[in-house]
Amino acid sequence: MTTSTATTLALWEALAGASPVLAGAALLHARGDAPSLAAACDLPLAAAAAAAVGQLRQRCGDHLDTVAACPSCSARLEVALPLRDLDEHTRAWPATRTVGTRTVRSPTTRDLAAALTTDDPASTLRASCAALDDAATEQERQAVLTAAEDLCGAADLSVRVTCPECGHTPRVDVDPVALLTDQLATESAAVLQDVAELAAAYGWREAEILDLSPARRAAYLSLARGRR
Ligand SMILES: [Zn+2]
Repeated sequence: MTTSTATTLALWEALAGASPVLAGAALLHARGDAPSLAAACDLPLAAAAAAAVGQLRQRCGDHLDTVAACPSCSARLEVALPLRDLDEHTRAWPATRTVGTRTVRSPTTRDLAAALTTDDPASTLRASCAALDDAATEQERQAVLTAAEDLCGAADLSVRVTCPECGHTPRVDVDPVALLTDQLATESAAVLQDVAELAAAYGWREAEILDLSPARRAAYLSLARGRR
């Protein structure tokens, strides 16, 4: 099996089986960034976003074409996501910020899952980034919350686009983990289609087929299709 095929199938299996809130942690675990899914839940959300953008850039190049709806007129917007810029942006994001004597940390998947069970997820998520004691002044409290908001925003990516119909320039949210899940599903479907065809034609097992180099696999596919 080539490394890229093995990686594609392993990441696809990990992401396809994960709920949306855990998908980022599942990606980090499948990449080997954490020894277990539970440990991956304690890594920053921004780390998962960076890993997903990095994978997308590796697979799709510096741009990824996607579509969105204009919030003003509902027109279909063609969006070319600048993966190189997003990659550099997410990789440079700090895991912590220091505010006076306090350390504010990035929110994790565990923080997000807990926040989503509350009435005000955004405030709960910000509060989970820093412990504020009663001794904090109002100015310190505001500085900490601003830093927390900043760190929470690291995993919320967006790009500005111009609507050709109404001229508005909305920001379109980018969910790199969801985009990677779609990309991996497409790539894996192509691999599994090849496996199914070769297994039917020659009676080979999946592992034997995945062990073939891409060139040999393509050659055998061509032979199998030619003799139908
Ligand atoms: Zn529009």
